[in-house]
Amino acid sequence: MSVSTPKDMNVKKSIEKNEENANATKDAENDNRSMSKVQSHFLVPSEKLDKVTRRVIAPYAQIERKGLKEEEAKEGRYLDMNRFNVFLEDTVDLDSLLYETAMVLKTITNSSGVFLYVVDDVRNEIILMPHNTKMPERHEVNIPIGEGKIAAAHAAATKEFLLIQDVQRDRRFSEGLKWIDAKVALCMPIVKPDGNCHAVLKLYRTNTESYDDSVVYTAVSVACWAGAAVHQAQARITLQKTAHLNNELRALLHSYFCDLASLDTMITDMLAVVKSFMGAMRSSFYILDRDNVVSGHLLADMWDDGWHAEKTTMPKKKTKVNLNQDQTPAGLVARTGQALNVRDAYKDTRFVKEIDPTTGTVVRSCLVSPIKDKHGVIGIVQLTNKSNARPFSVEDEMIFEVFVSYCSLIVHFYNMQHQKIYHQNLNDVYNELMSLHLNPCRHVFEELMETNGIVLPPNNFKSYDYHISEGSKEDMPGLVCFMYMETFADRNFDRSRIANFCLTVLSCYRNNPYHNAEHAFCFTHTLYLVLTSNPGCFDYVETAALMLAGLCHDIDHPGFNNNFLALCKHPLSQMYRSSILENHHFYLAKKIIEDKNILGKLPLVDRERILEEMQYNILCTDLAVYFQIRAHLTPLVGEHSFDWADNAHRKMVKGILMTTSDLSGCCKPFGVAKTIAENVYEEFYSQGDKERAMGYTPLSMMDRRRSINQPAEQIQFLSVVVLPCVLLLQTVFPNTSPLTDNCRKTQDAWREEIEIRGQRLWRQDDSLGNLSRSRYSTKSRSDLT
Ligand SMILES: [Zn+2]
Repeated sequence: MSVSTPKDMNVKKSIEKNEENANATKDAENDNRSMSKVQSHFLVPSEKLDKVTRRVIAPYAQIERKGLKEEEAKEGRYLDMNRFNVFLEDTVDLDSLLYETAMVLKTITNSSGVFLYVVDDVRNEIILMPHNTKMPERHEVNIPIGEGKIAAAHAAATKEFLLIQDVQRDRRFSEGLKWIDAKVALCMPIVKPDGNCHAVLKLYRTNTESYDDSVVYTAVSVACWAGAAVHQAQARITLQKTAHLNNELRALLHSYFCDLASLDTMITDMLAVVKSFMGAMRSSFYILDRDNVVSGHLLADMWDDGWHAEKTTMPKKKTKVNLNQDQTPAGLVARTGQALNVRDAYKDTRFVKEIDPTTGTVVRSCLVSPIKDKHGVIGIVQLTNKSNARPFSVEDEMIFEVFVSYCSLIVHFYNMQHQKIYHQNLNDVYNELMSLHLNPCRHVFEELMETNGIVLPPNNFKSYDYHISEGSKEDMPGLVCFMYMETFADRNFDRSRIANFCLTVLSCYRNNPYHNAEHAFCFTHTLYLVLTSNPGCFDYVETAALMLAGLCHDIDHPGFNNNFLALCKHPLSQMYRSSILENHHFYLAKKIIEDKNILGKLPLVDRERILEEMQYNILCTDLAVYFQIRAHLTPLVGEHSFDWADNAHRKMVKGILMTTSDLSGCCKPFGVAKTIAENVYEEFYSQGDKERAMGYTPLSMMDRRRSINQPAEQIQFLSVVVLPCVLLLQTVFPNTSPLTDNCRKTQDAWREEIEIRGQRLWRQDDSLGNLSRSRYSTKSRSDLT
């Protein structure tokens, strides 16, 4: 351009100002953040960027989202039954303590004897406590609680003490004291603070000396205290048991989730804990088959340890038990979703009588609870026959509830595992199918192999100005093979495999206006020129990784940017937290490289390094990552402290090299660069259209209604993104200056376009007004200029 107009001066000033800003940004970012941070997570801290830069890079910058916390890995352990049993032995035997209290009362009240009856709430009976508490069942004597028949049963019913001064003549009780030949008696209920009678003490004298007031007073006082103590002890034991059960189950769960123990192990351990805890003889666990629940069936997988399972370690698993017609407590719970405490299943007409064929054990008491989610019953846990031959108590129910809540975690985990296994297998199936189809057309492949897999390049191929012409695009695979041969594909690489690889990768590019095979080719070509004109800077592995990454770097690009994928919750955006597309490109590149086994002849260590380097290189094509690298590398080369021997420094140069190659379309002669820019806009606009249809206002660059801004935007993009990149590369590789020259020429040409069009120049103030609007504003803007 020979003539400068005032308008041009404004643009130049504006650009210079932006370049200064960009430099200031670099300085500000020149801190000691590690490179790993650069790779793992991009965000140029927005407060460090001027608004113009922010606007220009907006399509490439990512929107920060809150990430999930890393799973905490801690050491775990599985169930140790010995340690667990010690606790159970340690619990207080309340009835024995009461018996001791009774004996003390007998002495101080000068009684001839004492009987202790314990109340059985469930059966509404009082049970005579034997002297030998170790074998309770054999001496059990039960008396129904009720007024007017037997003195002790009367006291249990009225919960008031009862003094009988003359047993023979007292007509209040038709059956008297039962079994005792006594003259006087004192029945003392032990009532807990909640009003429930726990036991009855019966003191008696065989002589005629009656109990005086002070004796009665003492006995009543002791009984009161005993009631309070029983209550406290029971509450403490329940709490202690619940806390202990909680700890046990939590520790188990923790270890399972850390080690991903098998479900069988989990259920076995959990059942062992709860069975031993509650003193049940048998335990069962059901997991309902969800798919069948929907269709009205109630099929379940069942784990059951059978009778006397103390000797076995693993419950037997039966698959597909049908609970729909099943006349068992578990079947009823599955159908109703209601927990059950069955006191005598044998007599209960709802259930089929169940007798163990080998031991003749009858199912009597059982505690059954459903495990539910929001859709209904997903599992069932059952405990059968309490070992003391009594039904399960209210306290048992409370403790069981704690257990059931842990079981629900297990069932959820189980269902998730099932889903996971299903999807893993589905993925394998798809992968196999995909490998089958990731192959070039046989004719095309054979044609390429007729020239030994390569196409010889045209004369201007060694120039940065070269660009593949419309008519020679079918030569791209052969030319890539040629570039591979020239840079790294020595005798360790099979020619036909390389040809197959190149054809396959290029065919995996979609037919996008910009992110297509042609772009991948252009990228690879620039990379090839820089590497071949600066030999010896990178080692063999680095060179191979760069060239392979170049061809693969946008593979399967959908034509939308990362922000859009996140916006529409694309599956890929759920898979990767940052550099969504770049991670996908690498994933596919790796798959094709492995499928085609093109690195097969290399030592394992080289193969691994190539893939590792490729991953880094491809992730560097996220412009977001580029800004970070630029901020680190610029001061290094500026201060002449760049060191080729430093791996971190080399990595940064590789990153800049990847970005330069990616942007090299802007560094072609203007005619080509303009066509490429138009292709970029075509792709951007189609994204913008989609955003608008979703109710969002697209960015100016993606808004076809604002296409008038194109030249100005290009000038901005070149000065904020492209020029600093190629200039940085030029300081490392001075012979890349043609890229910079072309870039500048292109800028000038865009300025001319503006002049020719006679359009108002892009002004910073205007664009800032737009920028301040929310990215996701749903308001439409009709006053666009
Ligand atoms: Zn690209």
